[in-house]
Amino acid sequence: MNGPENNRSGRFRLLADIVGPALPGLLIMSLFINLLALATPLFVMQVYDRVIFHAGLTTLQALVLGICAVILFDFILRQARSRVLQRVALAVDVDLGRALFAKVAGLPLQVLESRPGHAWQFLFRDLETVRNTVAGAAVIALVDLPFIVFFLGLVIWLAPPLAWVFALVAVAFVLLGLWNGISVGRASRIEREATMRRDRLLNEIVLGRTVMKSAAMAGPLQALWEKGQAASIQSAIKRGRLADGSMNAGASLGVIATIALTSVGAVAILDLKMTIGTLVAANLLSSRLIAPLSQLITSWRSLAALRESAGRLNAILAEPDDRRLDAIDLPRPSGKLQVEEATFTYDPEAAPALKAISVRFGPGGLHAIVGPNGSGKTTLLKLAHGLYRPATGRVLLDDADISQFSRDQVAAWIGYVPQDGFLFSGTVRENIARFATDAADADILAAAELAGVHSFVADLPDGYDTQVGEGGGRFSTGQRQRIAIARALVGNPPIVLLDEPTSNLDRDAEDDLRRHLCEMARSRTVVMVTHSPALLQASDSITVLVKGTIALAGRTEQVLPRLMGSHVRQVGT
Ligand code: ADP
Repeated sequence: MNGPENNRSGRFRLLADIVGPALPGLLIMSLFINLLALATPLFVMQVYDRVIFHAGLTTLQALVLGICAVILFDFILRQARSRVLQRVALAVDVDLGRALFAKVAGLPLQVLESRPGHAWQFLFRDLETVRNTVAGAAVIALVDLPFIVFFLGLVIWLAPPLAWVFALVAVAFVLLGLWNGISVGRASRIEREATMRRDRLLNEIVLGRTVMKSAAMAGPLQALWEKGQAASIQSAIKRGRLADGSMNAGASLGVIATIALTSVGAVAILDLKMTIGTLVAANLLSSRLIAPLSQLITSWRSLAALRESAGRLNAILAEPDDRRLDAIDLPRPSGKLQVEEATFTYDPEAAPALKAISVRFGPGGLHAIVGPNGSGKTTLLKLAHGLYRPATGRVLLDDADISQFSRDQVAAWIGYVPQDGFLFSGTVRENIARFATDAADADILAAAELAGVHSFVADLPDGYDTQVGEGGGRFSTGQRQRIAIARALVGNPPIVLLDEPTSNLDRDAEDDLRRHLCEMARSRTVVMVTHSPALLQASDSITVLVKGTIALAGRTEQVLPRLMGSHVRQVGT
């Protein structure tokens, strides 16, 4: 998997594409907002030095009018700047959100399985962090930053005796900001990891709610969750303490700066090096310096979080996708599926799950794969579907390497029925149609009838409009599997792979499914992982897997007697 290191050059590219176009406008607006900010100190300076000392009421009227116009312009500019930032936020939500979803959904199954489920949800939180930061106060603080130099220059020109105080204050703020960014950034990372650990457990509790209830595990699981919660709270407190500490230090630094300015200014006035108006104006200008600097302290953390979130998002966006496009449209394959010398490893440290396997199915017929638990049957099916890529060897569909086809194309040619028959929340119709909005009723009905779904769905009050519930929980596992078989048959694929389709069926249902599978196998290649004697007898060929290798394979009439013999021997020993 590509780490963030591998795509440094790509880091922030997508973000830059979104924020980049808005940046010149933001900078120009900020320039005017900062220039207008000079009006208040100038106003006060004039009032102190001219109006008060020379009783210039007419001047005061003109100054008040002028400052009112400035306030109005300032308001309009700030509103415009907010609008631009809102548009940036929207672009992040829409463009980056869409890109992230497409990316996650388009990643190879192996990459998706390499992280726990909630890690993917956290990526969408990263998206929120990016959105809130690029469209929030942190970006305004960053855009305002260059004007600090301008204000510093102005103060030095206006009140030279105060220059060194300003320079010291600016350096102190930058140091505080840096320290805050590093320490709070580190604390935030620890907090994120603690929260992820806690949420992982929460996810599993929801998934395993039946086990939790049936095995009365609520007490011990609560203790585990509280441990995770405590770690999360502790890290949040630490992060909060550090963040509050630097924010308060920033506030104190602001007060110290005002006192230092006033004191040094007072001495300068006594030495006749400055007027009172200049001191008051310098004090006001100092707020234009100090405000963005202290804002920077809080923003620094947001910017560090932005950097990390954008880094994680970019690392995912740089992952290679499943193939999405085909060079040419090929005709429907005849259904010959061949695995050639394929080796597959989940964990490089452990033994391969499949070792140089070669097997051929079809075209046409019913083919069974048997073997003890953990022998690699499911892995072989996933490999045959192109969901996993073999480390060595290849999978051929009608003599063409399957890796050249897009996922959409393979999914249209090879139907796959997982063991748990997972369904997405929605109606039976939507699930069979794979949520395609343009699926024809006739195709859905044909698939449902062939899979034996129609008989039990037609009985329901809402028929095909029945909601299947979360993960398909409204139906029994056997019924879910039937709907999953119908889903696999939509589009009439020449090959169907089924993972233990009878594991949750009673004898009658198993018999019924056997009839349906034989019917399907008349015009398709049907490959199934099964231990059902009825299905084994009905099959044309049997492949026996043991510890990731093929122990026995051939026509059913040759393999079955030997298989039964070994079973009888095992029972006998
Ligand atoms: P079967 O379907 O025959 O029960 P599998 O194909 O599920 O066997 O698994 C074959 C081997 O690969 C087993 O040793 C199993 O522990 C291992 N395995 C399966 N899935 C994973 C996974 N996601 N990560 C690591 N190892 C796995």
